[in-house]
Amino acid sequence: MAVSWTETQYQRLTELNAGEEIRSLSFPGSAERDRAFLEYEKKLRAAAKERLEKLRKEHRRPLLCRLKSRLTEVLTGCGFVEVSTPLLLAKGLLEKMSITGAHPLYAQIYWVDRGKCLRPMLAPNLYYLLTDLLRIWEHPVRIFEIGSCFRKESQGAHHLSEFTMLNLVEMGLPLEQCRTKMAEYASLVMEAAGLNDYRLVSKASEVYGETTDIVAGGVELGSAALGPHPLDENWGITVPWVGIGFGLERMIQAAQKSSSISSVGRSLSYLDGVRLNI
Ligand code: ATP
Ligand code: MG
Repeated sequence: MAVSWTETQYQRLTELNAGEEIRSLSFPGSAERDRAFLEYEKKLRAAAKERLEKLRKEHRRPLLCRLKSRLTEVLTGCGFVEVSTPLLLAKGLLEKMSITGAHPLYAQIYWVDRGKCLRPMLAPNLYYLLTDLLRIWEHPVRIFEIGSCFRKESQGAHHLSEFTMLNLVEMGLPLEQCRTKMAEYASLVMEAAGLNDYRLVSKASEVYGETTDIVAGGVELGSAALGPHPLDENWGITVPWVGIGFGLERMIQAAQKSSSISSVGRSLSYLDGVRLNI
């Protein structure tokens, strides 16, 4: 009977970014398997060291940082203004997003104080800023933020408790342009991330009623919503809008075909996707 990797071997190979073709191998017996493991481990460690060397000698910034810069460049080039808002969010702003006791996201909030939490999303801050900017600036107003968000997750291959979100919003555009712009901005971001193979899928959302997900390889990389929307009333916003939130680590994971999201996120064990215990 053919044998596959032991749990420890499989875990080590995953840490070292072994592809599915290696992780799914099977062998006639355990001696063959253990020999193969040592060989693959050696090769993968060498590849990891090479990648770290490249980071040090060539680009000097991990992919997450480089993607952030690339997206900033592309979006500012398209008329979006970058904003930088607080990581600490007042409970009142969550409530304005209808995230209260019964909402599924409520249980995922990290409270740092009774009235303050670590932001689980960028939308409340962007809504807040837009109430002023819509008054001051000529319409349409385009802004974006790229920054950390926090959610208590039961950790899986696609969830981090601390991740990087890009949220872009255009408000005050003609209603009939919203859907086209949604597709246009999704394409802009996906192309900047080196991802050409994706689909737009509509689904029901807890926060926005209906959202359109940007999906690649069966994984949600972003969620888009359109306004006017029932939540707008809480902010006094009456103009049409389009907004999309993307997860940068998920985009990198998809582009790199990596099996673990933790290797590409903020980490003390990995640097630029490379496990440091090599
Ligand atoms: P999921 O259903 O996959 O948990 P979501 O619909 O709750 O995601 P959104 O609120 O739509 O997530 O957030 C926008 C994007 O942020 C997601 O499409 C995803 O790319 C990313 N994202 C959300 N939660 C996480 C997480 N815990 N870790 C990494 N990325 C995340
Ligand atoms: Mg979503």
